[in-house]
Amino acid sequence: MQFYSTKNKNVRVGMAEALMRGIAPDGGLLMPTQIPQVSPNFLKTIRKRTFPEIATYLTSLFFQDDLPKETIENICTKSFDFTLPLTKLSNNLVMLELFHGPTLAFKDFGARFMARITSYFARQTKKHITVLVATSGDTGSAVAAGFYKVPNIDVILLYPKGKVSPMQEKQLTTMGGNITALEIKGSFDDCQKLVKRAFGDYALRSRFTLTSANSINVARLLPQIFYYFYVYAKGESLGKPLVFSIPCGNLGNLTAAILAKHMGLPIARLIAATNRNDVFTRYIKTGIFTPKLSKTTLSNAMDVGNPSNFVRIVELYKNNLSKIRTDITSQSFSDSQTMTAIKEVWQKYQYIMDPHSAVAYLGLAQYQQKHPRINGIALATGHPAKFPELIENILHKKIPIPKGLKQALLGKKQTVELSNRFAEFKKYLLKQSVDS
Ligand SMILES: *Cc1c(COP(=O)(O)O)cnc(C)c1O
Repeated sequence: MQFYSTKNKNVRVGMAEALMRGIAPDGGLLMPTQIPQVSPNFLKTIRKRTFPEIATYLTSLFFQDDLPKETIENICTKSFDFTLPLTKLSNNLVMLELFHGPTLAFKDFGARFMARITSYFARQTKKHITVLVATSGDTGSAVAAGFYKVPNIDVILLYPKGKVSPMQEKQLTTMGGNITALEIKGSFDDCQKLVKRAFGDYALRSRFTLTSANSINVARLLPQIFYYFYVYAKGESLGKPLVFSIPCGNLGNLTAAILAKHMGLPIARLIAATNRNDVFTRYIKTGIFTPKLSKTTLSNAMDVGNPSNFVRIVELYKNNLSKIRTDITSQSFSDSQTMTAIKEVWQKYQYIMDPHSAVAYLGLAQYQQKHPRINGIALATGHPAKFPELIENILHKKIPIPKGLKQALLGKKQTVELSNRFAEFKKYLLKQSVDS
């Protein structure tokens, strides 16, 4: 599979390069040159397939020329060895629980898949790879867990000091081994800028084989397509139009849903639910995209002021705003609405949502006020146990902490503190390469 740059269609790279670079040589984002179509027979027989089987089929559509069939099968089976329950709250409301992976967030899907593919190429090319990743909370721990102890790979993750939850910080900083956590005095956007600049920096590029693990990397993006097909396989749409509500930050999850639709999954509507970081919602409403500084909210993994996958969405629709509006609606919700939703859903259904999932729920609930007959699936992207204080405050109820998380809480925080200046970050990286 070939990929082209969103900045220039003539700039193309193959799969291995797409994976290693993360972004196109000219700084654009990579897009598949062709969007493969699923066969009608696949959709007809999909109900018999397991999640790893669906994943294997879809991965093969993209990578059959780049990876042996057994490798694809092996990667999909190992990456997706956890469950993704569809929990029905009412006749027209289903929560797709994507938070049962090792770090309890949906990012485990992308991170585990990417780690295994990268490890395959590192082995093939006998290279040592450094994964750079900026995180607003959940990405970092998913990536770190995905790559932990994978040979020939180091992970350096950057997170905004004081802006992730104590639990998230523990998950990010206690692993050790080939994982290094940098605590940046700045915002998530600062972290993302540092990573982007590192990729464009000649001295760094010549010293390291750098790759990104943010959702801009195609290997992280693709596995997010799988669960949309899986919902269809489970018959959740029950003959009715398929409507998903997606809690959006960097728009990776939404981009994957659009790709799924363009590959042939009959999705009727996508609801892009945002928190107060509503740059995308404003774009849908006004047609104008204005990046902003990110604001801190309860759903902090969605606190993104300049969502990187936006250009991919525009690209997928060939910049046709009215087509985008036909497929996607968007709504933004405040923290107080989020808290009310958590309480309401607990009272109505005895179901506990984390703040990100609550934003997705709100998006769907609001859409259903206008379209009451629609069956909707809200993506539950985070485990509520990662927000114990918040949930206790709202529900006056202790929430049990899963085993994996308990272990992280016992670990010792290990970080390197840096300012948000690129020069300092670069100096730190170059020093590492000399030391090792
Ligand atoms: C990252 C994240 C999101 C936002 O997903 P994007 O693909 O960045 O839009 C939503 N919920 C949780 C729990 C996350 O970790």
